Amino acid sequence: MTSIADGTGVLAGEQRMLIDGELQLTAGGTLFDVIDPATELVAGQATDGTVDDMARAVGAARRAFDETDWSRDLDFRYHCLSQLHAALERNKEHLRRVLITEVGCPVKVTGSQIESPIDEVKHWAEHGKNFDYLADNGVHQTPLGPARRKIHYEAVGVVGAITPWNVPLYLNIAETVPALMAGNTVVLKPAQLTPWSGSEYGRIVAEETDIPPGVFNVVTSNANEVGAALSADPRVDMVTFTGSTATGRAILAAGAATVKKTLLELGGKSAHIVLDDADFGMALPMAALMACVMSGQSCILPSRILLPRSRYDEGIEIMKTMMENFPVGDPWDPANMQGPQISETQRQKVLGMVAEAVDSGARLVTGGGVPDKLPVGYYTQATLLADVHPDSRIAQDEVFGPVLAVIPYDTDDEAVAIANNSIYGLSGEVSGGDLDRAFAVATRMRTGNVTINGKSHFGIDSPFGGTKQSGLGYRNGAEGYKEYLTAKTIGMPE
Ligand code: ADP
Repeated sequence: MTSIADGTGVLAGEQRMLIDGELQLTAGGTLFDVIDPATELVAGQATDGTVDDMARAVGAARRAFDETDWSRDLDFRYHCLSQLHAALERNKEHLRRVLITEVGCPVKVTGSQIESPIDEVKHWAEHGKNFDYLADNGVHQTPLGPARRKIHYEAVGVVGAITPWNVPLYLNIAETVPALMAGNTVVLKPAQLTPWSGSEYGRIVAEETDIPPGVFNVVTSNANEVGAALSADPRVDMVTFTGSTATGRAILAAGAATVKKTLLELGGKSAHIVLDDADFGMALPMAALMACVMSGQSCILPSRILLPRSRYDEGIEIMKTMMENFPVGDPWDPANMQGPQISETQRQKVLGMVAEAVDSGARLVTGGGVPDKLPVGYYTQATLLADVHPDSRIAQDEVFGPVLAVIPYDTDDEAVAIANNSIYGLSGEVSGGDLDRAFAVATRMRTGNVTINGKSHFGIDSPFGGTKQSGLGYRNGAEGYKEYLTAKTIGMPE
């Protein structure tokens, strides 16, 4: 086991951002602290990029798109992204230490945040290489005679990528690599709490790949206005964003003036409908585990558990047992699967929402506070709330903590109505013994994706996106790649 005390675990990451091919600090030299959420100590700093830095980065990306043949040279892009894949592989353990240090993600569960995104680079390089950028759409008759149509898929232009702190390396890669492979140039603005997963990515691009200056830029900053500047800059053609619905609305509004293409993956309040014929011994320990492994800091977490009244107490008991015995603590200890919340602010928000839920009538089954044995670090007890009213705040608002809200129901129709009673529509889950019945329920959930009996929908080759106020557009799958392309139809003689 490693720890900050012996200096082998926690790691200070890259301070510099990447603009126009140069790793650099902001002109005034201002740095901001990166806090290790497991120790509450300053682990290091990142450069505090300004609105001017962002303007320079966008200018560099604009020039690289308009004045180089990056967007037209597919073989070179494949070469560069293959190099990037190899470089990330070489830096894998370093990136894992950066992730654990700045997020507090338990080492045991870092695979989906380190190995998966690195594999995705290879996937997008191959997908982009094999994509058919010119499709023949046949001949149609016009008043002026027959005309053939060809559809030419072309890069959108300059893409601004704004990412959150919960799965930072994964989302930095997911938002930028398909964009680059499709021929766009990119400016990445990582989240304030996790700048290093962005700055390390920038360092690797600058030092270990042939990606030309300006094609890929990273601007770290402690100020929301720097992300806002990126989303409003008229030289940016498209913004891709993952984060809260409130910020997504602001980004959509900022892009309206120049009608920017906007890809949004936003909040969720996903429901897990547990049918009365479900295998409770399988479904409910897993439901509790999902709430704990990322400390509940996951947009797709099924945070509303809908239990049939006929098996209500049985279901609650299973989740309570799992949550009370869940291994929480030092993220460097491979025995632990739940780490801290990302910050004290975030922990107080979670605890405040739990307290408010109890005040307004929910029953606290377990949790609701800070684990006794973990006074240092932003740890939160796994928390189970029962008898939650479907309209209450805890059933409607995203918590982003290890908190489950249990709601009873009587019929499948009622369960579907409760699940759909949300402004969000990201994910859903159904557990049931009769697969046809479970599938029928899944098709009635107004969400972008659904898991049945724990079989995950999520994968690089399947579209992932939210309905309602959970997002616009898709990541992953063929749909996810096309988001970064425009379809130009060219009419021409036969
Ligand atoms: P949180 O509130 O949990 O930090 P956000 O959704 O606000 O999550 O933040 C996600 C990302 O959006 C971060 O990189 C943040 O800097 C950025 N951001 C915050 N406000 C704005 C804004 N108004 N315009 C553009 N980006 C923003």
